[in-house]
Amino acid sequence: MIALFAGQPAPRIGFDLDLTLIDTREATAFALESVNASLGTAIDVDEFVRRLGPPIRAELSRWVADELLDQAADQFRSAFVGPGLQFLEPLPGAAAALAEVSARGGKSIVITSRRQHIAEVALLACGLSADVVVGGMTGTEKAPAMRQNAAGCYVGDHPLDMAGAAAAGVPGIGVLTGSHSEKDLHDAGAAVVLASLLDFRHLFEGPVA
Ligand SMILES: [Mg+2]
Repeated sequence: MIALFAGQPAPRIGFDLDLTLIDTREATAFALESVNASLGTAIDVDEFVRRLGPPIRAELSRWVADELLDQAADQFRSAFVGPGLQFLEPLPGAAAALAEVSARGGKSIVITSRRQHIAEVALLACGLSADVVVGGMTGTEKAPAMRQNAAGCYVGDHPLDMAGAAAAGVPGIGVLTGSHSEKDLHDAGAAVVLASLLDFRHLFEGPVA
C-alpha cells in the first residue's frame, strides 16, 4: 500500500512547505514575538504556531485588529525573512526526498500558503531546492496548481493539504511532522501517512517491513 509509485518513472511530486519540508515553528515564533513587541499586540505565539497551515495574514487576524493587520503582516514578513531565517531548519528527510525525486528524473513542486518569494528564500536558507514553487495557495486552492504542474500526489502535514490533494484528484501523502495526527490526516483523505519524510523513499520501492 505504501509503495504508491513503485516503478513509476519521472514522478512529479507536490510538497507543502511548512512542517512538511521545513520546520518553520521557531522562525514563525520569532516573527510573532517581533510583531507583539513592535505593535503591542497579544498574539498567542504557541497557539499560532500550533495551527500553522492557513495563510499567515488570516491567522494574524485572529489576534490583531483590522486597522493593525497590514502593519502586523509587514512586520511579520520582515522579521521572518530577516533574522528569522536563521531559525529555519529542514525537516528530517526533506533534502533526501527532493533528491530522490530528482534522481528518478521527476520534479518537485512546492505549493504553499506562504508567499512565493518567502517560500523561495526559506528553501534557500535550508539548502533545499525544488523545481517549481507556487505561493499563496491554501487547502483546495492548491488543487489547480497541482493540476497545472501535473503533480501525481501531494505531500503535506495538514488536513487542508489532504483536502487540496482530494480536490485535485491525486493521492494525499500525510506526514506527522506538524501538529496533526495520523487519524486527522486519514480522516481528511490521506492515502498514506508517513512518520516523516525519512520514509518518503518507501513510496517508490515497496512496503516497509
Ligand atoms: Mg504545512
